Amino acid sequence: MKLSRCPHCKLPVLELEGQFSKLDSLYIHNGNPPAATAGWWHAGCLAGSDAAAPWYEARLRNFRDVRRYQEVAATPQWTVLHVNKVTKPENEKLVGRSLTDIAAERGVHPTDARHPRAKAVSRG
Ligand SMILES: [Zn+2]
Repeated sequence: MKLSRCPHCKLPVLELEGQFSKLDSLYIHNGNPPAATAGWWHAGCLAGSDAAAPWYEARLRNFRDVRRYQEVAATPQWTVLHVNKVTKPENEKLVGRSLTDIAAERGVHPTDARHPRAKAVSRG
C-alpha cells in the first residue's frame, strides 16, 4: 500500500478518521487554489496552513454553485450544507428529514449518520 504524502510536511498521510483531508483538484477553479496544494493533507497541517482558507472557499463554491447545495448552518470551524434532491430512489425517504433526526433513529451521533443530502465543509 502506497501512502500519499502531505503537500505541507511531506510525511505519509494515514487515512485516520477525522485526521486528514483530501483536497481534490476538481475543486480548482481558474487556477485557485494552486494545484501544488492539492492532495492528501494531515488535518493539523491544513489547519495551520495558508492553504486552508482558499480550499474552504473552493469546496464551498463547488457545493453551492455546481452541486446546488444550500447553507443551513455555520460555525467558526464548519459550514453545513444540504440539497433538496437525491439521486438514488432508496434515499427518497430521507428528503425533508434532518441529520439529527436520522441519527437518533439509527442510534448514532449526527456526525456518524451518513446523509446523502448533507455535506459539512471544514475551514481547516
Ligand atoms: Zn502534514
